[in-house]
Amino acid sequence: MKITDVELFVLKADGLYDNPEGAEEPAGPTYMGLVKVSTDAGICGYSDMETSASVAKACIDAPRWSQAEDMEFMDGLRSLLVGQNPLEVERLWYRMYRGTIYFGRRGAAIQALSAIDIALWDICGKAYGQPVHILLGGKWRDKVRAYGSTLFRPTPEAMKIAVKGYIDQGFTAVKFGWGVFGKDRRMDVQLVEAAREALGANRDLLVDTGWFVERTAKEAIQLVRSIEQFDPFFVEELLHPEDYDGYRQVAESTDVRIACGEQEATDWGFQTLIERGGVDVLQPDLSRCGGFTVARKIVHMAERANRLVIPHSWSSDLLTAASLHLTAFQRRAEFVEFNTSQGPLSRLLVKEPLQMEDGFLRVPEGPGLGVEVNDEVIERYRIA
Ligand code: MG
Repeated sequence: MKITDVELFVLKADGLYDNPEGAEEPAGPTYMGLVKVSTDAGICGYSDMETSASVAKACIDAPRWSQAEDMEFMDGLRSLLVGQNPLEVERLWYRMYRGTIYFGRRGAAIQALSAIDIALWDICGKAYGQPVHILLGGKWRDKVRAYGSTLFRPTPEAMKIAVKGYIDQGFTAVKFGWGVFGKDRRMDVQLVEAAREALGANRDLLVDTGWFVERTAKEAIQLVRSIEQFDPFFVEELLHPEDYDGYRQVAESTDVRIACGEQEATDWGFQTLIERGGVDVLQPDLSRCGGFTVARKIVHMAERANRLVIPHSWSSDLLTAASLHLTAFQRRAEFVEFNTSQGPLSRLLVKEPLQMEDGFLRVPEGPGLGVEVNDEVIERYRIA
């Protein structure tokens, strides 16, 4: 089998990215990049990604630059892959990483590489007739508890209304993040308190404090102390993603689990986050960290270091399905992140949207990612 094409479609939905001033559900992603890898066997692999799709598209479409075979270092990703055997995922991962190293390593290039890697695992699964979690090494569970992932609402009352809605949908865990959080320290505590009150003692509350709020490590420690009474399962992204020493300071100061990693990439990055950052919960986003090829190594590293892996996934059902495969493969898994927004790119990208049952999502059983993209939806929202 040979790869015949690598394409990135830029999709654009109507609606806002979020709605921090209102109490309603955020609309979800406005833009999305969808990668399609085609083969001469008629099998195609897909992945969405959460980054600037237009920049990632340039990383794929850029021409071959290098003059000599096996001396590639600033070539477009398509040029590195066409003609290659898609089943050789690990060799192709390194071929892509090394072949883009002058402009790549992190950022849009590794994100484009990540989506391609997911699409290659999708192709492998379809070629072998097996779901991705079997190719990763096996399935430890059939279903994973989903946490509803949404934005902070502006008032305690609006928080309670929102929580009630998620309980009615069947969620047993909810994460609030971003929105108004970080603007007023006292209000922040009241919002978390309202969420805990509405959730009751038997459901889980997760808090994403937003890395873009400038905090020192000591301010982050104060923040954790002010909300630990509400028993958060974890507190996420208290600091800038590069502040590894700050993360260690915070992690060593508290018994509350500290989570980070949605912007981290490569196994080298996650090794740093474990060893230097000392965080308790690693949150690789499959479409940013380097795809399954890297995430599989992260799971191994985390198991050796006795940390949790709860993948970041705030995009479409395609990325959620990928995260379910990774989560199925972990010996211990707590949650899969489920984007609650109802925008068309969140909900309509696959033919059969994922359905929650009693707060759990089933691990897809079909070959590859086990979900099929909806070509009509792609054509309807495609702008490039
Ligand atoms: Mg986050």
